[in-house]
Amino acid sequence: IRQIVYFYGNLGLNESYVSTILSVKDVGKTYESAGNSLTVLHRINFDVEAASAVSIVGPSGSGKTTLLGLCAGLDRASTGSIVLNGICLDTLGEDDRAGVRNQYVGFIFQNFQLLPTLTALENVRVPLELRGERNSRNRALELLDKVGLADRSHHYPLQLSGGEQQRVSIARAFSNSPRILFADEPTGNLDAETSDTIERLLFDLNKDMGTTLVLVTHDMDLAFKTQRIIRMKGGAVVSDEVTQPKEL
Ligand code: ADP
Repeated sequence: IRQIVYFYGNLGLNESYVSTILSVKDVGKTYESAGNSLTVLHRINFDVEAASAVSIVGPSGSGKTTLLGLCAGLDRASTGSIVLNGICLDTLGEDDRAGVRNQYVGFIFQNFQLLPTLTALENVRVPLELRGERNSRNRALELLDKVGLADRSHHYPLQLSGGEQQRVSIARAFSNSPRILFADEPTGNLDAETSDTIERLLFDLNKDMGTTLVLVTHDMDLAFKTQRIIRMKGGAVVSDEVTQPKEL
């Protein structure tokens, strides 16, 4: 992207050049179980610009987590279309969606989802190994160092505080240098001070590496630190506003 922007910049086109990394068009989701069907998302539309930071907010049950999962390719939309980094996810099977996730996507969960029987280092190393990365140990150590946890690499999740566990999960989410990071309530289980550390880390990665951030959050302080807030209610988008991001 930087090269493309540089190229167009040289042509004097940089102001008109906007790259869309995520495009959500008329997306709906209906869960079917035991003969019942429940539609939880209705005709959702938005685009996300590459390297931006966007928050999705709304009451519990409004469909935020479901929407995030569809955008990240964890599940498939029932109707409409999602294009992620130029790849249309609509007809891809689970294996192909996993391939897209491995290549372009990072995901952070509220409850960290680290494997309890593996050390911090191993938790970060597993996805690197799965991708066939040769120097996975050193790369995992580098990533842990980036989140300030080099000295905790041999600790197991239960030996780490909530904030430290979330930092390990951020290191893991960054193991594939994702173009886009989805975070579902990344600070939901953390105290205020620890939340600040995690927010800084996410926004630093957004600024330094140009990683697009799409956050689901209840925390309006966090939401106002992004450039845009999408509000949901009852499975629909009720507002979509560009904000003046607050200083961290
Ligand atoms: P939010 O993240 O805004 O709290 P969710 O996306 O978790 O909302 O949930 C939206 C609605 O979808 C809720 O009514 C929830 O019960 C329902 N839901 C979520 N996942 C499933 C599922 N796998 N099967 C059936 N219903 C689900």
